[in-house]
Amino acid sequence: MSGLLFVLSGPSGVGKSTLRKEVMKRCPALKYSISCTTRPPRQEEEEGVDYYFVDMQTFEEMKGRGEFIEWAKVHGNYYGTPRRPVEEWLKEGFDVILEIDVQGARQVKNDYPSGVFIFVAPPSLKALEQRLRERHSDPENNILLRMTNAHLEMQSIRDYNYLVVNDVLEDAVDKLRSIILAERCRIR
Ligand code: 5GP
Repeated sequence: MSGLLFVLSGPSGVGKSTLRKEVMKRCPALKYSISCTTRPPRQEEEEGVDYYFVDMQTFEEMKGRGEFIEWAKVHGNYYGTPRRPVEEWLKEGFDVILEIDVQGARQVKNDYPSGVFIFVAPPSLKALEQRLRERHSDPENNILLRMTNAHLEMQSIRDYNYLVVNDVLEDAVDKLRSIILAERCRIR
């Protein structure tokens, strides 16, 4: 028996991490894959909890050794999903959740066509811009880049199996949890 692979994508600032963390409290058997990134940590971020923060050389070496299931350049930094933990968890029968951008999700879909692809969208692009500004973690030019990318990312919605609009957090958590429970009951 192998576990299910859930892939969560959506524009930066849409609240994917909060949503995922809340769902994990209610779906304890779910394993979260911690990504590697060359982006410097934000003030509240912890090494090995939010990301593995690595330098460009380390990232390149890992990429060269095929240690990523997928990787992508997002908003000027590199991000990748370490292969080993994901493959081991799936083999052991655990369900795994990835929080990655649309380019990465496309790569994962090639290798794991039976994955469950979930897009998290904001109620509007205006609301997204407001959230990005309110979290005070990105400089102005990066917010503009993240908004430009959000427009592009929203065009990939049709490649996903599910759409969750994150307006009221509790409602979005319920929807995501329902998707996970339904997929666990699906006869394959
Ligand atoms: P942030 O810098 O805001 O933490 O993340 C920026 C974007 O990179 C988000 O859309 C996030 O989901 C995505 N991301 C995080 N980890 C990975 C990863 O391992 N692979 C890919 N392709 N994207 C990632």
